Formats: sequence, structure tokens, C-alpha cells
Amino acid sequence: MLKISDLDLLAIKNSNNKAILQLLYKNKKLTKQEISKVLNISIPTVTHNINALIEEGIVREAGVADSTGGRKPVVIEFIPDARYAFGAELSNKGLRLILTNLCSDIIEDCSFDLPEKNNISAMMTILKEEIEHILHKRHIDENKVLGVGLAIHGVVDEESLFVKLAPNINLKDYSFKMYEDWFDFPIYMENESNAAALAESILGVAKSFRNMVYVSIQRGVGCGIVIQDYVYKGKNRRAGEFGHMTVVVDGMQCNCGKKGCWEMYASEKALIDMRNKFGDREVTSISDIFAEYQDGKAEAVKAVQEYIKYLAIGLQNIILILDPHYIILGGSISKYADLFLDELNRKVFIPNSFYSENDTKIIISKLKENASVLGASLLPLQHIFFTDNKII
Ligand SMILES: [Zn+2]
Repeated sequence: MLKISDLDLLAIKNSNNKAILQLLYKNKKLTKQEISKVLNISIPTVTHNINALIEEGIVREAGVADSTGGRKPVVIEFIPDARYAFGAELSNKGLRLILTNLCSDIIEDCSFDLPEKNNISAMMTILKEEIEHILHKRHIDENKVLGVGLAIHGVVDEESLFVKLAPNINLKDYSFKMYEDWFDFPIYMENESNAAALAESILGVAKSFRNMVYVSIQRGVGCGIVIQDYVYKGKNRRAGEFGHMTVVVDGMQCNCGKKGCWEMYASEKALIDMRNKFGDREVTSISDIFAEYQDGKAEAVKAVQEYIKYLAIGLQNIILILDPHYIILGGSISKYADLFLDELNRKVFIPNSFYSENDTKIIISKLKENASVLGASLLPLQHIFFTDNKII
């Protein structure tokens, strides 16, 4: 006779527990009867698991709901401040650190310049000290912190905390394993665009969209692919490196070694270079360019139009490769994307035999510049809220 091993029992118990938590995470308040019905598990099993979660201080009883006959059902409520997570984004712009609760409300938010360009150890010291400072200031016990998630602009192996390549911060073959001892809670790591895609699919505008591509436009261009609710990373964890697909044969030299990569023409820096090519007075930020653009200044209008042309080529290729429901524009450019979205749509959806505007929607990130760092803060939550890993 087939016997259920202790391990299997534990797994079933664990998966019921996670399924209940995941449901409460999404709905915030439910009765035990509702939980039982949605998950198709018995009331005694729900009660058993809820009691364990109450004991852990993650959920609590919150009065009773109206009865449809018989005893009034007890409402179970999710406690947002029961646990916390830190999210950190490491880019050429520096280090940004946030503290979030279980509802991903940003409770603390601070930014630091990188100590020296390549000094990651000094940066991690800042991270450690700031985390300690925040916990002390907020009187938060370390036991209540699920972990710290790092979003890194590069190719990362999240399991071994290893950065294979992050050219914009001069990192190559660098292990973060040694920093695990620095904290009383686990460290998680993810590529910046994948972290942002995770945040968009759990918290953002793509909450209910199952297939999408997140395009992060900052100094470089990174993309995260979400397929059937999962962030897809690929065999070598570099799926979605659309920033390095060739859009111009023998084009500009990219620091990846190839020429004519999309990010050389579609990044924030590319737009600044285009604008400075057309105008006498030099600008250094995209906010200046879009201010000029709104004023109708010829050099900015020309630059933005050229920029959109290249942005559109990459988006067309992505649509042909993946046929996603949605493409989400994120990163620093997303703040201004509503100024050029109509024009971008016109350039992407030129008449062709394959796709039209009705097939794929291009939308602007709701989380904007918070997407990556919020995604980083979601990494420690995955293990308690989701029955399986959301990044594959
Ligand atoms: Zn490249």
C-alpha cells in the first residue's frame, strides 16, 4: 500500500499553508468558509493552518461576517506589518534601499552614491549600516525581517548569489556569497529588469496580465519576460537581453562587444546623445529634453522622433519573437512616456501581415522608477507567499 511519507505530509501541510497565505495576501480579508471553498480544502484543515498562521502573527481574527444561516463566520485578516523585507537596487546611479511591509508599502526609502565605482564591499557596508539604522529607528526586530533582495543591472545567478556580468557598475564574476554572514536574514538577488517584471506582475499595471515583456529604459535597456505569470530567465539566466539585439548593422560599438545593439539607440543616454547632436546648448538629462520637447524646441523634437524610431524597431522585434499581450515601458523614461506614446504606437504598429495594435498593447509602467526596487523587496516574500517560485 502506498504510504505518505512524513516529508510528503510536510509538503502538503506546507503547500496548504502557502496557498492560504497567498489567498489572504491577494484578498486581505476572508472567512474560513471562503478560504475552504476557493482552495477546495476542508474547514478543519483551514482552521488548523490558520491557527498556525495566527501563532506566527501573520494573520488575525477580525470579527465576524454576516451569516447566511447558522453561526456567523469568523473573518481572517492579513496583517501587513507582521513581517518586513528590504529591497535594494544597485546601479551606476548608486544604491537605493527601501523597507516594505507585506503589502509592499514603502516604509523607508533612501539613496546613496556608490563609494567608488568598483567598490562593492564599501557599498555593502553602507547597505548593512543603513539596514541596522532603519531597524533600530523603527524598533523592528530582526526576526521580523524576511530578507533583503538585491536588484542588479546585469546577468546574475540568483541561486549562488553570483553576478556574471554587470558592465554598468564594472562587475564581472563577482560573488555576493560572503555577505550572507553579514545579515541575520537571507540575501536574495535578481536581475533588475526581472525584478521589475516580477513587481509589475504582482503589484503593478500587469497584475492580471499573464504574458508580458517589461522593457526597462535607463542607462541601458533591460527586459524581463513574464510567461503565464512566471518571470522567464532561460537556461543561462540571460533571457530577455533584448537591449543587445542588433538593430543597426555595423552600428555603434556596445560595451558587450557587439555593434549596433538596441540599447545604443534606445537607452536614456542614446536620447541625450541624439539631442546633443541636433542642438548647440548641451543637455545632460532626459528631463531637460522632455521640457524642451513640450516647448516644441526643434532640436528636442527631432531627437525624440529619431529616438522613437529606434525604440519602435526593438519593440517590433519583441512582438514578433514573443507575441506578448502587453509590453510595459518602465525605467526612467517611463515618467515621460505619455508624451510620446501615441507616436510610438504609430511607429510600432505600421501596416504589416503579422500584428496590429489590437494584438499587443504598449503601456506605461505604473510602478515607474520603483519597479525594480519593489521587485527586489518581493524576492524574500516569494518563499512564504507563493507555492512555487515565480521566477523560472
Ligand atoms: Zn550590446
